[in-house]
Amino acid sequence: MARLNAAFRCINECGEHYALDDVIYTCPQCGGLLEVWHDLDALQQKSGAEWRTCFDQRVRMRAQPTWGLSGIWSKREWVLPEVNDENIVSLAEGFAPLLPAGQLGATFQLDNLWLKLCGTSHSGSFKDLGMTVLVSQVKQMIADGKNIRAIACASTGDTSAALAAYCAAAGIPAVVLLPENKISTAQLIQPIAHGALTLALQTDFDGCMRLVQELTKRPEIYLANSMNSLRIEGQKTIAVELCQQFEWQVPDWVVIPGGNLGNISAIGKGFEMAHQLGLISRTPRLVCAQAEHANPLYLSYQNGFRLFEAQQAKPTLASAIRIGNPVSVHKAIRALRQFDGIVEQASEVELVEAASQADRAGFFCCPQTAVALAATHKLAARGTIQKHERVVVISTAHGLKFTDFKQAYHENHLSGIQSQQANPPLSLPARIEDVLAAIDKHAESR
Ligand SMILES: *Cc1c(COP(=O)(O)O)cnc(C)c1O
Ligand SMILES: [Zn+2]
Repeated sequence: MARLNAAFRCINECGEHYALDDVIYTCPQCGGLLEVWHDLDALQQKSGAEWRTCFDQRVRMRAQPTWGLSGIWSKREWVLPEVNDENIVSLAEGFAPLLPAGQLGATFQLDNLWLKLCGTSHSGSFKDLGMTVLVSQVKQMIADGKNIRAIACASTGDTSAALAAYCAAAGIPAVVLLPENKISTAQLIQPIAHGALTLALQTDFDGCMRLVQELTKRPEIYLANSMNSLRIEGQKTIAVELCQQFEWQVPDWVVIPGGNLGNISAIGKGFEMAHQLGLISRTPRLVCAQAEHANPLYLSYQNGFRLFEAQQAKPTLASAIRIGNPVSVHKAIRALRQFDGIVEQASEVELVEAASQADRAGFFCCPQTAVALAATHKLAARGTIQKHERVVVISTAHGLKFTDFKQAYHENHLSGIQSQQANPPLSLPARIEDVLAAIDKHAESR
C-alpha cells in the first residue's frame, strides 16, 4: 500500500493544510477550526470488503503490543497512520459493548433499540477514545524532539479524567482546569489520583475553556480539548465500530448527547469515511440531544441553523453537557445537515425519569445518556422515529461516575422534581420476621 498520510486541514473555504506535529488548534490563516484530513486515494487501495475483513481480523487481537487490544488502534490507518508503535499510549479503549435494550425499547414503543456503552472504558467515559490518539501524538512529538512540557484541558469532568489517566500512563505532565463545585466527586478524584495538577477555578466550564485557550497559546503547553481535532479521530471510530458490531449493517438512527459538540461531529465523520471507503452502503440519521438548561444548538435548530447564539448555560444534572458556547458547533451543524439530523432537548424531569427507566431495565445510566434516552422517547412518541426502526443511543459515561444524582433521586431530594420510582433503602431491625414482611410488601407494591 502507498504510504498513508494525514494532515490538519482548515474546515473553512481556505482549506489550508498543516502538519500534524504543528502545535496549532485553529487555522493560522483564517482562524477556522481544523480537521484531520486523510489521503482517501491511498486508503482506497483497499476495497470496502478488504477493509471490513482487515478490521474484523483485528478484534482484540493480542495483548502485546497493547494497542492490539484497542478498538481505536485496530483502525489505526484511518486514525493516525504515522505514529510509531512504541509511542502509542493505549489503555485498551474502544470495542465498547453494543447491547439490545428490548425492555427499555418496549417502554418507548420501539422494537429495535440498542445502547452502545462507550462509558464502559478505562476512565469511565468515551473521552478515552479521543485521548489515546491525542496523547500518542504528543508522545511521538516529544520523541521527535518537540519541546512540550505538559498537556492541559478545561473539563466538565470526563475530559480531565481521561487526560490524567493517559498522561500518567505516558509519563507526561497533565494540567486540568475544572469549574469548582460543578463536577461529581468521582470525576474530581480521577485527575487527583493520577497526579495531574488539578485546578478548581471559580467559574463555569466556558470560563475554564477561555482560560485554557489563553494558556495554550504557549507552544510548550499542548491543548487537549476537542477543538483539537486529534480527539475527533479517535471518537469517530464509534461509528465504524457500531456498524462492525451489526456485521456492517447500518442503523436507522444514532442518538448522541451533545455539549461541546465534538462527539456528534466525530460520529458524523466516522460514518462519512466508512461510506466513502465502501464499508457501508448507506448512512443513518443523527440526533443530537441537549439538556434544556444548556440548549444553544437546539435553539439554533429551531431556526434552521440560520442563527447560532451562545448562551450562559444553567445548572443541569447532566453536568458533563452544561456548555453554553460549544467549540465544535460549526462541525456539528455540518454533520447534522449531512445526515438529515435533528436536535431534541430534555428537561430535568424528563432526564431523571429516563435514567430511572434505564436503570430499572438493568442499565446504570449517566445523566447525559439519560438526556439522549429522553430525546429518543420524545421522538418515538411523536412518530419521527418509527417503531420498527433500528436506533442506537450512545451511552457516553458510566453511571458509577454520577451516583450523587441517583442518590438524591431515590431519596426524593432533587429540588423541583417528584421522583416517580424512588427506591430508598429500608432501615429494619435485624430480625427474620421484619425481613420477610418487607419482602412481601415489596412484592405487593410491584
Ligand atoms: C463530554 C461528554 C459529553 C458531550 O460530548 P461533546 O463532545 O462535548 O458534545 C456527553 N456525555 C458525557 C458523559 C461527556 O463526558
Ligand atoms: Zn483557514
